[in-house]
Amino acid sequence: MRFDIATLFPEMCETVLSESILGRAQKNGCLSVQCWNIRDYTLDKHRRVDDVPYGGGRGMVMQADPIYRCYQAVCEQTGSVPHTIYMSPKGKVLDQQCALELSVMPHVFILCGHYEGVDQRILDEIVDEEISIGDYVLTGGELPAMVLVDTVARMIPGVLPEDLCFEDESHFGGLLEYPQYTRPAIWHDKKVPPVLLSGHHKNIAEWRLEESLAVTKCKRPDLYFNYLNKK
Ligand code: SAM
Repeated sequence: MRFDIATLFPEMCETVLSESILGRAQKNGCLSVQCWNIRDYTLDKHRRVDDVPYGGGRGMVMQADPIYRCYQAVCEQTGSVPHTIYMSPKGKVLDQQCALELSVMPHVFILCGHYEGVDQRILDEIVDEEISIGDYVLTGGELPAMVLVDTVARMIPGVLPEDLCFEDESHFGGLLEYPQYTRPAIWHDKKVPPVLLSGHHKNIAEWRLEESLAVTKCKRPDLYFNYLNKK
């Protein structure tokens, strides 16, 4: 899968993308991510990419044309028309299902806004969907884009050390994950639940499901009742 990210601050994204599991996935070819600096596509001699909002008001608005020219460069270089997402607090709130649907797309273009946002006309022209990472406002779309790439990428085959292990985790099946433990078996007088040391896989699976249900009911009753209704 390929992501192209259009931003005014490519270094912010490149640092995150080069580390850990995402960095490895790019090296082994499961994932390809390229960051594009929108400023490289302005025709303004001072490399300006924003201007004051029509109608007045605070802040600056990113202009449509540099973004459009950047998008066209991506289409030309890749020879494909990507599914295009604008990271926006006005968008649909990202969840596991949305990430799963994106993980089967071959090519995604992500537009990161900054300042007061971007000219509506570029959104009308190229954007397929707007995605938010939650009901709060950040200074720019770069961190939201990193959240999106991370959660989508871990569902692409070959990205995680064991394929499909994301299915055991919180949210995939509608529940939160059971508690996890590792060595030592006793720490600060606290013992690991004995069933986990038993080697009895069926009992362990049953214990984990019970714990998942209990944790979800306690921490996220909304998810718990949703899960029960779907059963
Ligand atoms: N004026 C805009 C509004 O009130 O809807 C907010 C602009 S925000 C300061 C600048 C940029 O950050 C946005 O264009 C968007 O790309 C990004 N952004 C901010 N909050 C976000 C969120 N919750 N999810 C995704 N992107 C967000």
